[in-house]
Amino acid sequence: MITLGIESTAHTFGIGIIEDGTIQANSKDQYTPEEGGIHPSEASEHHYRKADTVLDQALAQTDHDIEDIDCIAFSRGPGLPQCLQIGGTVARSLAAQHDIPIVGVNHCVAHIEIGKLTTDATDPVTLYVSGGNAQIIAYSGGRYRVFGETLDIAIGNALDKFARALDIPHPGGPEIEQRARQGETLIDLPYVVKGMDFSFSGLVTEAQSKIDDVDTDDLCFSFQEYAFAMLIEAAERAMAHTGKDELLVTGGVAANNRLQEMAATMAEERDGQRFKVPHAYCMDNGAMIAQAGARQYRAAGGEELSALGTDPNWRTDQTEVPWIDD
Ligand code: AMP
Ligand code: MG
Repeated sequence: MITLGIESTAHTFGIGIIEDGTIQANSKDQYTPEEGGIHPSEASEHHYRKADTVLDQALAQTDHDIEDIDCIAFSRGPGLPQCLQIGGTVARSLAAQHDIPIVGVNHCVAHIEIGKLTTDATDPVTLYVSGGNAQIIAYSGGRYRVFGETLDIAIGNALDKFARALDIPHPGGPEIEQRARQGETLIDLPYVVKGMDFSFSGLVTEAQSKIDDVDTDDLCFSFQEYAFAMLIEAAERAMAHTGKDELLVTGGVAANNRLQEMAATMAEERDGQRFKVPHAYCMDNGAMIAQAGARQYRAAGGEELSALGTDPNWRTDQTEVPWIDD
């Protein structure tokens, strides 16, 4: 079975093609704002300008043309409404024109499914850390459940906001990581974990207010130490609660070496448990949508084209996952 997946939730327009569990193509084009954060209307304009080229590139990476595709999958949500619209429209028009079955998939669930396909994780606790999301997720009783999540902004968004105050261009996470390597003094910042949830907006405000008073490399170092320790604390409790022995870290922030180091240490200290990062597929991409779509289509078939809109607030734990056996 050949599935074509379309990703368009935020800055990336991507198309991936998966044939019987093997990734055949993964083409993408990313919008980068000239100034400030992501402007939704500019990002969606980027997506409709690039959609055709990305589709052609993806098909060219395979031996197939569009008529060979058995199922079209697209990111139905969560995401920026204007951006989701483009992927949804491209998917529906391809499905209608070529009479191909279609499924709408949950973007967060897709990050987990591509993680399971490209690492040897089978039933992990997932720490999903990206520009728009910060969630701790694990499968339990028919759904991927959210065991902990941000109470305000996502971790990537927090890093990018703090970076902007330091005049670092978007996305600021990678440069914060570089500067943090030079820092050595831990500066006192808010550490906010409430139950299994966490919050980053107070950390951003406090770090911004200290920029003129302390060494900014120390501030970058401290920002990472506080933010990542909050995430790892909640992830560790999710592992203890569920009894699962694999930790999957994914999303754009998973590229951070200090976060990976803290995750590896936590997993190791829990009886040598395993820690996985789907390196080439952490960032948003079309292959992950193809993989989740293929599993969904095989288990439950296609969806009604006319009823299939986008859903900007679709939660991980509202999503049916009929392909997983309890
Ligand atoms: P995503 O939304 O999954 O595409 O990821 C984008 C986010 O990842 C942005 O907020 C980036 O600042 C962040 N990011 C990318 N690389 C790193 C890194 N090395 N360290 C921290 N954050 C990063
Ligand atoms: Mg994502």
